[in-house]
Amino acid sequence: MIRAFTIASGKGGTGKTTVTVNLGTSLAQLGKETYILDADIGMANLGLVLGLEDAPVTLHEVLAGKAKVEDAIYEGPNGVKVVPSGISLQGFQNADPDHLRDVMRDLVDRCDYLLVDAAAGISKDGVVALAICDEVILVVNPELSSMADALKTKILTEMVGGKVYGAIINRSGMENTEIRRHSVEDVLGVRVIDMIPEDPNVRRSAAYKTPVVVKYPASESSRAFRRIAADIAGVE
Ligand code: ADP
Ligand code: MG
Repeated sequence: MIRAFTIASGKGGTGKTTVTVNLGTSLAQLGKETYILDADIGMANLGLVLGLEDAPVTLHEVLAGKAKVEDAIYEGPNGVKVVPSGISLQGFQNADPDHLRDVMRDLVDRCDYLLVDAAAGISKDGVVALAICDEVILVVNPELSSMADALKTKILTEMVGGKVYGAIINRSGMENTEIRRHSVEDVLGVRVIDMIPEDPNVRRSAAYKTPVVVKYPASESSRAFRRIAADIAGVE
């Protein structure tokens, strides 16, 4: 059974953090012990979107060897456990991404599922994140540039010994200029797990620092997140 997933893309802004938070919360709603970890140690915002920006201990201190992992675990919505990263540049400088693998191993022993929100691009912390988990989920937007980035990330994942589980097309709409599901599968050579529509409720819920699956559970995006959680957990 696959239990640890890295949520990755090429560039930032495709929806990695949104997917990590909402998929993690949906898995917790299914009764699964779920941890979400912010491995985007340079541009951390997992804690920010969940109102944990004042967390006294974060992944930064753990990666700097100044704190234990258990001191950086916080309770999130519906019982999802959150390991945020710090937002200070000083903390980023002291954090050693080489320790990410140990942190990930420690966390995966505690839970049913671990989701790792990866850094965009090909920085060291971003690349480490592609290899530490069992499999990678690529978050792509339905446009050519995003697909090109995702393809690069897939190749990079395989170069560092990782494996791609599938892709999520985020922010899909009705425009007929959009790249279709089967084209994404052809170009990336991976399964499209599901599509999440462009949904204003995602942004609305962000204003409340609450995942959309909690704030607007009946919305189209929430339904999609729950379908993906069920796919991962192997439930109907
Ligand atoms: P990343 O972590 O990949 O940089 P984010 O998850 O922070 O991306 O998303 C970038 C922005 O897009 C955020 O403001 C977020 O609220 C918004 N967003 C993400 N997914 C959707 C969606 N399906 N519908 C509407 N807005 C979205
Ligand atoms: Mg992010």
